[in-house]
Amino acid sequence: MYWQLLENRVTSFAHNFSFERIETPILEESALFSHAIGRETDIVKKELFEFVLKDGTPVALRPEGTAGVARAYINHGMLSLPQPVKLWYMGPMFRYDRPQAGRYRQLHQFGFEILGSDHPVLDAELVSMSVRFLKSLDISSHCLVNSIGCRVCRPSYLQKLLLFVRQKKRSLCADCNERMKKNVLRVLDCKEEKCQIIYTDAPSMVDNLCEDCKKHFTRVLEYLDEMNVAYTLAPRLVRGLDYYTRTVFELFPTGMPKEVPLVQENSSSYQEKEQEEHQEEQEENEEAPSKNPHRQDALAGGGRYDLLLEMLGGKPTPSLGVAFGMERILTLLKPKVDAAVPPKGHTNSVFLAQLGEKARKKMLVIKDELIQKGVKVLDAFSKDGLRLQLEIASRAKVSYALILGEKEVIEGTVILRDMNEGIQEIVPFEKIVEVISAKLAPKGSL
Ligand code: AMP
Repeated sequence: MYWQLLENRVTSFAHNFSFERIETPILEESALFSHAIGRETDIVKKELFEFVLKDGTPVALRPEGTAGVARAYINHGMLSLPQPVKLWYMGPMFRYDRPQAGRYRQLHQFGFEILGSDHPVLDAELVSMSVRFLKSLDISSHCLVNSIGCRVCRPSYLQKLLLFVRQKKRSLCADCNERMKKNVLRVLDCKEEKCQIIYTDAPSMVDNLCEDCKKHFTRVLEYLDEMNVAYTLAPRLVRGLDYYTRTVFELFPTGMPKEVPLVQENSSSYQEKEQEEHQEEQEENEEAPSKNPHRQDALAGGGRYDLLLEMLGGKPTPSLGVAFGMERILTLLKPKVDAAVPPKGHTNSVFLAQLGEKARKKMLVIKDELIQKGVKVLDAFSKDGLRLQLEIASRAKVSYALILGEKEVIEGTVILRDMNEGIQEIVPFEKIVEVISAKLAPKGSL
């Protein structure tokens, strides 16, 4: 029920925002993921479910959806379609990680991708759409946002970062020592608390953006302000995948970002942010960082990947996307649904009980008509005794049962029993679908 609700909501949301569904293979050549996501990322280095085919080709179960979508865009010539192309997907992803609450080896994601435009309004729209999606499920979230620059400004920033981490080398974990040799930006993504504390003092990318990236990011934040989307600047948010450029963001359930030490507290407009920047930096440095960034609590993450399609052999195609973790959303959604709808039983269903062969045949016809009208039906056609059937109905907590014996078949009627009240009424065959449909009409908003 919960999965169905979420899947239906994603499908209708994507439809309303004019995204087309895309299905990509679960199994792809490993090279796609190592090229796209980055050889030095945790997802590729530690978490890829990889094996070798008989012909020696290394293949992997997809750890995320964007690389496959980008490959499909190139292979299927989507560049010739009107741009940007808006696609969405939903399905299983695989990450070889230590399973724990909120972190699974087989997880499910859905995602929205916009390929073929570098306009900052799309970054803001994607963030806003993501927040609104969760809100439509009554889940309030908070957005962390950052810009990680482009190939013009990032190299000089990386030099500064490298200088910083080299000085702190001895205090950093073994993984960070490795990361600084191969891809220093990845250190900011470290899950070790002691490292995160050190990185609160690290130089930040937003302070080192080139003019174009600065303009782009300013406009993204202005659009977000315009759309009244609350966000927090998180100067050390880099995401766990290498393909990102410029805007990156993550959504946490409300309450979470306050505990994230990499956050630069701010939820006012961008102009005010710039003015307060200096003062805030001081405050941030004074603040004792509390805990790890709780990455397993993020509900969604995304950003721009302007260079990815080129990296995969396509033409330059600036693009962006977001992915949501379905299990984590469901954990928050389940209690809300349970509160709106009684959790156990089939209260919105009707049970069909029959006595004798003629009644069974007639009930088959009634069942068909009810299902065609969208009524949810439970039955026990293989059983004979009426008492047994009503016991099954009672255990399933259905609201209504239809009872049909030889006498009713001859009279052309059905007994309709209200299972909660124990009251029965006689309804003619031709009225039964209408009466039941009206009684089971859905109530509540979720
Ligand atoms: P990522 O692009 O890795 O940030 O993943 C996007 C979203 O997928 C995250 O914000 C989580 O909600 C979810 N997610 C990522 N990894 C896992 C996992 N191992 N188990 C469950 N959900 C996950």
